[in-house]
Amino acid sequence: MNKPPQVVVIGSLNMDIVVEADRPPLMGETVHGNQVHFIPGGKGANQAVASARLGAKTTMIGAVGSDAFGAGLLQALGQEGIDVGAVKTIEGSHTGVASIVLSQGDNQIIVVAGANGQVTVADIDQSEDKIAQADVVLLQLEIPLQTVIYAAAKAKQLGKTVVLNPAPARELPDELLQNVDVLIPNESELYLLAKVGAEVELEKAMDMLLQKGVATVVTTLGSKGAAYLTAAGESGLVNSHPVQVVDTTGAGDSFNAGFSYALAGGAPVEAAVSFATKVAALAVTKLGAQAGMPTLAQVEEFIA
Ligand code: ATP
Repeated sequence: MNKPPQVVVIGSLNMDIVVEADRPPLMGETVHGNQVHFIPGGKGANQAVASARLGAKTTMIGAVGSDAFGAGLLQALGQEGIDVGAVKTIEGSHTGVASIVLSQGDNQIIVVAGANGQVTVADIDQSEDKIAQADVVLLQLEIPLQTVIYAAAKAKQLGKTVVLNPAPARELPDELLQNVDVLIPNESELYLLAKVGAEVELEKAMDMLLQKGVATVVTTLGSKGAAYLTAAGESGLVNSHPVQVVDTTGAGDSFNAGFSYALAGGAPVEAAVSFATKVAALAVTKLGAQAGMPTLAQVEEFIA
């Protein structure tokens, strides 16, 4: 039997506290809500869950606080078969939280990084043996940028393939981009990173990132699918799959995990984009980010 692809995710774990109310409170006001949901999230954890559901041997590197949310998140990831041995629990810190008020079809969100803000370069060094096992190291931007820069450099040094999902959007230094094999922004992240306006053609903006040292850029385009461009000159657009959309939360996370899983298994870029598009299409048909991540069997059934 072939050995399963190995994906190491270095990133955030959050508890999303979602409160539903008829209307949001005004400043200084108290309103009664109708429902509260505690939903495991964080881009890192979402991508780890998606990767594990597909069958990758998945390791998570990150941090939670010494509270019930942290313990719950670790347990949930463990139940997905994810190795959480390198997720540290920081005494006296709290687990990352997104506080979300849902009302009248809109939302207000406050994110507090908590322990996610305390993932350090020393943690990366301590997890070197885990990183050394990876086929693909998958990063996002919800832990300190210095740690992301260091992790990408360390992974490259170890000869690993580095995939970076540059979300949430921010500008990035070339010293990071030079160590990225595959950058997977959405359209707005792409234009921010390329430092150009949306009047610039998509392929031109992607090429500007190749000039900064990224080997491949894959831009997710929501319901339009995803475009890719490689330093070797391959390019293309993979259409999304028409599905009944229920919840697009985690669309990007499922895409990144699907792509990384396929790449870790040896797929070329176009095939990995195509696979990721299927994983993401299935994810948007289900409610919740982690809860909606499909298994490999579901993706294969969808393909057939
Ligand atoms: P989010 O922040 O909501 O997770 P994102 O902005 O990071 O999303 P998108 O580009 O919106 O990422 O979506 C990622 C991928 O998900 C797309 O490339 C596409 O393959 C798939 N996808 C998104 N929306 C749809 C849709 N309506 N129908 C089918 N596939 C979709």
